[in-house]
Amino acid sequence: MKYEVVIGLEIHVQLKTKTKMFSAAPYNYGAEPNTLTDPVVLGLPGTLPVLNYTAIEKCAELGLMLGCKIADVCKWDRKNYFYPDSPKNYQLTQNEQPLCVGGSIEIEMPGASRNIEGAHRWVELNRIHLEEDPGKLTHTAFDSLIDFNRAGVPLAEIVTEPNLYSSSEAVAFLNALRNLIIFSGISDCDMEKGQMRCDANVSLRPKGLETLGTRTEMKNLNSISNVKSAIEYEMKRQAEILDSGDKVIQETRRWDAAKNISLSLRSKEEAHDYRYFPDPDLMPVVMDKARIEVLNQMLPERPFDRQRRYQKDYDLPYTITSVLCANHQLSDFFEETLGLYNAPKAIANYLVNDLLRELASNSEQGASALSLSETKLKPQSIAELVEVVESGLISKQIAKEVFVEMFASGALPKSIIESKGLSQSNDSSEIEALCLEAIANNPKAVGQFKDGNIKAINALKGPVMKATQGKANPAILDELLQKLIESGE
Ligand code: ADP
Ligand code: MG
Repeated sequence: MKYEVVIGLEIHVQLKTKTKMFSAAPYNYGAEPNTLTDPVVLGLPGTLPVLNYTAIEKCAELGLMLGCKIADVCKWDRKNYFYPDSPKNYQLTQNEQPLCVGGSIEIEMPGASRNIEGAHRWVELNRIHLEEDPGKLTHTAFDSLIDFNRAGVPLAEIVTEPNLYSSSEAVAFLNALRNLIIFSGISDCDMEKGQMRCDANVSLRPKGLETLGTRTEMKNLNSISNVKSAIEYEMKRQAEILDSGDKVIQETRRWDAAKNISLSLRSKEEAHDYRYFPDPDLMPVVMDKARIEVLNQMLPERPFDRQRRYQKDYDLPYTITSVLCANHQLSDFFEETLGLYNAPKAIANYLVNDLLRELASNSEQGASALSLSETKLKPQSIAELVEVVESGLISKQIAKEVFVEMFASGALPKSIIESKGLSQSNDSSEIEALCLEAIANNPKAVGQFKDGNIKAINALKGPVMKATQGKANPAILDELLQKLIESGE
């Protein structure tokens, strides 16, 4: 392609607060429609907003996590529009004086898999401001239904600079942002529940040119894969326009995920004039510098900082740390297990390989993939499993079997080993008899071993392992076979 794509994203994230942005009404996803409202949420005449200070603090925390400057004063503006999802006919937002300014986020570049230094880059942010969520409209064949439960839920809107340069970079950015927000605990970012939504601004320019092309904006993309498809569709559409000598029109477009196409909603000429003005009912918020400093001191570890720490302190490979740190639950689980039994590599391997495989296998059976918290597995289970392997009670082979059982039933490894009689057989007289049999049955392997081919001994181990159902201790077996071959000379 002779064009370079430039992308800027606007991401809305619902903050996890008990009550709404300007009222004491609670919010939880999935409640009976129109049960989580009150006169403020419904915009009834005579009602006045009261600021939810927790939402301010959560947004400030997010800003601090992303290295933004926290404004000394932020202010509320009315964004005026007439639409059924907005009973007041305006939305409260921060237009002129947002809470957080600037900032940047570390992302893992697409396709990177070796080391953090070469694989990551920083994406600049423009600002983060607070606003209130509108209600939710559902259009059916004959009616449009409105649910005001969502109206007034605190939203943080994160606006990037136009400095993402491919659809997969946009995906990497969203994954990094989502993960960081989940780590910070200020939102679960469940996109299926609308807790995180994205608008994508896309423009093309001839490769090598610095000036930006005319952009279009795709609204309310509700999954990361929709963001990717919408950007790619738009790149193709704009390239065709430019190739034919026409100009791209600046407009807002709607992504139709079912048809995999975008459609024009309104052009710049028809754009709303929102007539922003300062809200007369709400005072500007003067931020307490000392409190911001306290929040700054208490910030949780950022995901990629955690990854760097794992690489440095536990000498774990990039690929393993990258899987662990992409999942907050998983890496917390890892650390808890590590606190019980200090074997970082073995623990990480069980989590990244065996655990993730078991979680995913649930989805192969038609259900959705399980999350760690939905399982019966406890850090203690993994700690004990690593311990029994290291102490030689069971082999690594048997441990895989114990893992599956432990995942399914929640039982601890030692009780599984006992009830199923899985402990390694260290009864050397029984093993000795089996070894002698194996030696007698395979003179070829014995000969090869004697000629210096050490690996030939493996052919003798097989039958013994089979006869003991994998319970022979491999170290003892190795020693014994060598001794018997040598003494048989
Ligand atoms: P608006 O308020 O109309 O949405 P902004 O200037 O605040 O416009 O920009 C919104 C988003 O669009 C930002 O993320 C910004 O990076 C992005 N953006 C602006 N211009 C372009 C462009 N030419 N190409 C791609 N993205 C752009
Ligand atoms: Mg916009």
